[in-house]
Amino acid sequence: MTRVPALSTPFAGAPLEPTMIETRDLRDDDVRIDVKFAGICHSDIHQVREEWGSAIFPMVPGHEIAGIVSEVGSGVTRYQVGDRVGVGCMVDSCGECEFCKDGEEQFCAKGSVATYNGHGYDGEETKGGYSRQVVVSERFALRIPDRLELDVAAPLLCAGITTYTPLKRWNAGPGRKVAVIGLGGLGHMAVRIAAAMGAEVTVLSRTLAKKEDGMVLGASSYVATEDADVLSGLAKSFDIIVNTVSADLPMDTYLRLLRPLGVLVNVGLPSEALTLSPGSLIGGSRVLAGSNIGGIPATQEMLDFCAEHGIGAQVETIEANAVNEAYDRVVAGDVRYRFVIDTATITAD
Ligand code: NAP
Ligand code: ZN
Repeated sequence: MTRVPALSTPFAGAPLEPTMIETRDLRDDDVRIDVKFAGICHSDIHQVREEWGSAIFPMVPGHEIAGIVSEVGSGVTRYQVGDRVGVGCMVDSCGECEFCKDGEEQFCAKGSVATYNGHGYDGEETKGGYSRQVVVSERFALRIPDRLELDVAAPLLCAGITTYTPLKRWNAGPGRKVAVIGLGGLGHMAVRIAAAMGAEVTVLSRTLAKKEDGMVLGASSYVATEDADVLSGLAKSFDIIVNTVSADLPMDTYLRLLRPLGVLVNVGLPSEALTLSPGSLIGGSRVLAGSNIGGIPATQEMLDFCAEHGIGAQVETIEANAVNEAYDRVVAGDVRYRFVIDTATITAD
């Protein structure tokens, strides 16, 4: 066991505080990673505040992890000490079911192991990236290309893959019109990735406050959803809508913006149930879909794609003692566009 400083929350809704945690001794296939940056995903907040149901406490959140390999197990073949690596939302899966064999570990028949707020197959509670170190199997570590700095790469491990997957699946590209609802952590990556894929991108944000940023990120138009008339003027406009909003939205309003056969993909995961009228789907033979992160091969592909196109996240780097304030700012929509924790600032006795 190695003891390392981490940020942990003792019970649901409590502030994060520095504490010492134990990381496991290396198994044959494990790498120890010196975490350099950990992104703050809205999913961290949902879980710390128990908005998705019962969670495991104390909790060390963090599934947007970027760092450097500092030690390797005896059987490790893919990585060496000094390699730049990332870890996302999963740290294990059975490796044997049809989904794992297809590289879709997030659908593992046995259930993939969450990076935190989960249990490993040995029953061990998992702890995330708001920590100076993490230990994971090399199968769940991703190579961060040299062209990407570690701070802007960290958020790609969740926000990047979660938006890359549905954009690729539903064929975002030249001649396709994509709308992104919500310009936050996921939303700003969706804009950058869809634009890099060659699609024409529109941001649907509550107000025009972030319009200039949205255009720089790669959008060609930007619409305030608070203006109902402007929204209804966009009826039958888009092939793909990616909904990244962390709160409940009126589905019928947005389904109407799809061209016939278009798809609205939900990646935002509020706790409320969705309501919609079947006519909104049937009218244009439209598709309502969801999408859950992405597999390990796709995550590496996404990192390579982002490096090739020179797109990381736009980040605000914070010290460990600002993390609770950062949570409130994310909930208030006051982040441009992802907080990353400089984990060197996590200290505990
Ligand atoms: P975020 O940075 O807080 O961004 C969410 C955006 O939604 C905000 O920037 C805001 O955009 C908009 N929004 C927030 N509250 C709203 C409200 N009440 N009404 C309308 N719009 C609102 O969050 P994130 O980290 O991108 O995560 C977004 C959601 O995706 C969360 O629910 C998270 O749990 C989920 N998620 C899902 C997956 C997956 O695999 N499917 C993976 C990661 C995260 P504007 O200010 O531009 O309107
Ligand atoms: Zn996330």
